[in-house]
Amino acid sequence: MNYRYLVSAASDLPISMLNDEFNGGVSIASLEAQSNKIVLNCQIKKSSTFPFCSLMIPLADASKQGLDLSRFDRMKLTLEFKSTEPDTILVYLLNDEGRAGNIHGRANMHTLAPVTGIADYEMNLAGFNLPSWWIFAHPEATYAGLRFDNIKYLQISTGDNTLERLVNIGFIQMELTGKWIAAKDLYLVLVIFWLVFSVVHAIYNLNKLHQENKQARKREADLAQINKFLSIEKEKYESMAKHDALTGCLNRTGLRDVLTRVIDLYIRKNNISSLILLDIDHFKRINDLFGHAEGDAVLIELSRFIQKHIREDDYLVRWGGEEFAIICCNTSAKGAVGLAENLRALIAGHKLSSKTAITCSFGVAELNSSKVNDWFKRADVALYLAKANGRNGVVLANESHLSHNTPH
Ligand code: GH3
Ligand code: MG
Ligand code: MG
Repeated sequence: MNYRYLVSAASDLPISMLNDEFNGGVSIASLEAQSNKIVLNCQIKKSSTFPFCSLMIPLADASKQGLDLSRFDRMKLTLEFKSTEPDTILVYLLNDEGRAGNIHGRANMHTLAPVTGIADYEMNLAGFNLPSWWIFAHPEATYAGLRFDNIKYLQISTGDNTLERLVNIGFIQMELTGKWIAAKDLYLVLVIFWLVFSVVHAIYNLNKLHQENKQARKREADLAQINKFLSIEKEKYESMAKHDALTGCLNRTGLRDVLTRVIDLYIRKNNISSLILLDIDHFKRINDLFGHAEGDAVLIELSRFIQKHIREDDYLVRWGGEEFAIICCNTSAKGAVGLAENLRALIAGHKLSSKTAITCSFGVAELNSSKVNDWFKRADVALYLAKANGRNGVVLANESHLSHNTPH
């Protein structure tokens, strides 16, 4: 954060000198340019005036605006010094305030205690002062303090000793340094920056959170909508997978769930269920005589009719082409035979087809083991027997039917 302004003897400045001659003094001064310095050789001689010699180092073109040093706070001079008597060095930063006959301006001054040889002399600009002789010589100056807003010359002068002596002052360089920003301003700026950053960051985070929240809610809504859509689809496809497309009854996949429950209840609670297998008599003839569509219509009508006459916890299943199964839950063989007989009579007595009368044959079996296979086999044999008995009848299975072979 520092910045510097450098004036060096090597930079070809029109450095000049000034001595007490202009006050009537007799000191002798000369300038000598060496490789990296300009040396003032001064022979101080006593006279009625204050004896001195000075280096005049211009910091700005005389006709132009001088340097404004208000941004600087330190100055470092690199000087070479030698004197035959103890001495001080007086450093002036001359501020031009446009006073007539006073080209060198306000004499902001700093006193150095020089050492022999080359040395750096550091000073704070705030450590300068306005000498009393300048205040005395300028009664018109209402402000008797420092001013650095239009500095045109750096003047390096021999000191206050009035003894005759030989003094050599070599000017090597001057460096002014300042802070771009003062420490307390820097802290203020940092605090403000930090506050602004915090607020912006908080707003950004809040906004981000809000956006994320919004997006999450939208995703949730989308998901809910998709889920709803999918569950509808799922239910639809589940139902499609378990029901027969033509009649809407359960199919074999649907039957699997029913059987799982029925067998479970039988094992755990000894719940008796019965199975009715029914087959339309001479169905082939209906197709042959009235067409396949009529056959389909009969299948639909029959399944509707049966559905209407069974209980809610009985299940109608399309077991094969024109063959249906009814799972009668909590129903003994006796009850199932009664239902089968009832259905048989109702079907035979109703015109399920506008074209012809329909009858069905029924095989009934009570569940008496967890073997589903045996259960269906016994019902199938009973159905076969009903067909064999001349159709339109009901046969209850018995154990001997297990070993029976049916042709279908
Ligand atoms: P039975 O009394 O011995 O049962 O004689 P049936 O003619 O009913 O039996 P069969 O097994 O000889 O014929 C069954 C017919 O059912 C044959 C088949 O074309 C028909 N069928 C099976 N599924 C469907 C279907 O979904 N629609 C129609 N229209 N006919 C079907
Ligand atoms: Mg048939
Ligand atoms: Mg059949």
